[in-house]
Amino acid sequence: MAWKIDNEKCLRCGACVSVCPELALELKETGIVHDAKKCTLCGICEKVCPVRAIEVKK
Ligand code: SF4
Ligand code: SF4
Repeated sequence: MAWKIDNEKCLRCGACVSVCPELALELKETGIVHDAKKCTLCGICEKVCPVRAIEVKK
């Protein structure tokens, strides 16, 4: 079980932040910050990312 991001690929578009039902993502200047305690690994953020910077494995 894992949630991963490549913050070098990330465009800082905020799409993943707006769709996360658990509010587990936050957009900072350095990239996306993920709260593993809130995340349910639903995979929605992975699907909306235009550059496939997020990888979710159940
Ligand atoms: S996998 Fe689901 S719960 Fe976890 S950060 Fe992405 S959208 Fe949020
Ligand atoms: S959707 Fe992808 S490109 Fe946009 S902020 Fe999230 S990780 Fe970055």
